[in-house]
Amino acid sequence: MTTPIFSSPLSNQTLAARDLRHVWHPCTQMHDHETIPMIPIVRGSGPWLHDADGRRYLDGISSWWTNLFGHAHPVISAALKQQADTLEHVIFAGFTHEPAIRLAEELVAITPPGLERVFYADVGSAAVEVALKMSFHYWLNTGRGEKTRFIALANSYHGETLGALSVSDVALYRKTYGPLLLNPLTAPSPDAYLGEPGETPEATAQRALEGMRALLEEHAATTCAVIIEPLVQCAGSMRMYHPSYLSGLRELCDRYEVHLIADEIAVGFGRTGTLFACEQGGIRPDFMCLSKGLTGGYLPLAAVLTSETVYQAFYAEYKSGRAFLHSHSYTGNPLACSVALATLGLFRDQPVLARNRELAARLARRLAPLRDHPHVADVRQHGMIAAVELVADARSRTPFPATDRRGLRVFQYGLQHEALLRPLGDVVYFMPPYVVSDDELDHLVDVAIRGIDVACA
Ligand code: PMP
Repeated sequence: MTTPIFSSPLSNQTLAARDLRHVWHPCTQMHDHETIPMIPIVRGSGPWLHDADGRRYLDGISSWWTNLFGHAHPVISAALKQQADTLEHVIFAGFTHEPAIRLAEELVAITPPGLERVFYADVGSAAVEVALKMSFHYWLNTGRGEKTRFIALANSYHGETLGALSVSDVALYRKTYGPLLLNPLTAPSPDAYLGEPGETPEATAQRALEGMRALLEEHAATTCAVIIEPLVQCAGSMRMYHPSYLSGLRELCDRYEVHLIADEIAVGFGRTGTLFACEQGGIRPDFMCLSKGLTGGYLPLAAVLTSETVYQAFYAEYKSGRAFLHSHSYTGNPLACSVALATLGLFRDQPVLARNRELAARLARRLAPLRDHPHVADVRQHGMIAAVELVADARSRTPFPATDRRGLRVFQYGLQHEALLRPLGDVVYFMPPYVVSDDELDHLVDVAIRGIDVACA
């Protein structure tokens, strides 16, 4: 007789107790779980997650922004099963396989023209590491070894490995590890929330560009690249900005001979209304980092797309020592590439962006009443990302004391009412899978609005 994989009775309590004996969770003060229950999920279907006690939660944040088409999607699961029975993994140096080849072809076809080379990695942070190293190495290979620094935006987030964290500015993640990090330059964020009274988002973006221009004027000679999250600074409280910033920044990067790295890890694959957020600025970055939704939320996979020009700077006789050096064991994993291909297939087969436009319009309509809420300073949205900024006083935008943990109260209210909303501090946001129905979207918003009232009372 074989031993079952899960040997204890499946109840929330037993699984949570076993978990807390050994497992250390990300982005968590584990002590919180003395009072906040750990929730064991046993099954997913569409946008719903089901726990061991039979309760369910509408996944309003797409499981950390990865899931596009719902959990346990039949088409993606079938692709995974088929690939698992064929080839699960193979070393990706000196060897290749059709899923990786096809995926590269498809990514080149759907991303902005001029991105022709695809380097795989496994997670988002690794993609950022690859882009930073590749940019630096490009300049080194072209005789510009003095270019060693990066420019990142205030309030940016690009991941939590040391390089990616270095170009991140969100204090929660960065501050503790500051002594270990690279020393990037920080440019003002185009964040529309920071606009002066009466200033349009476009004018705020232009003002931020002026700050970037001044920084480049002084430091371009020693700068490899500017790295940005196009349109939405997601982990930085879902702060959003006007697309004109993207075109303006592209011009500046060209003028000052500095690469532009677009981190589309969170905003890529239809999140902001277009397939890629860069499209809204009409730009082609020098490096585009993709992950999260790339596999529909199934498996870790990342890709960095770049130009033929960059590729050619590394292409030379072995003895020249110019090869790019970055190798993760699971680079180009066939299972991950196959589910990515199935995910891209769904974009081809279904009117995903058109449906997202309907959902986004509905989300905007349903959130509109919150604009008059005494504890809401801002309701903002780019496509399928919407965010509500909770404050102690809306008129003066005075925040609640952070120790109040108002957002946590919304989270807890949500769990009691079949909704997974996981605010970033006091910013309640919506980033649902694209397969939510109108009614499910309404449910998410209704629960959030009631939760906000309870949390702010
Ligand atoms: N860049 C952005 C914009 C992200 O939102 C994230 C993840 N939240 C990352 C990079 C890092 O990705 P990962 O967590 O897969 O390392």
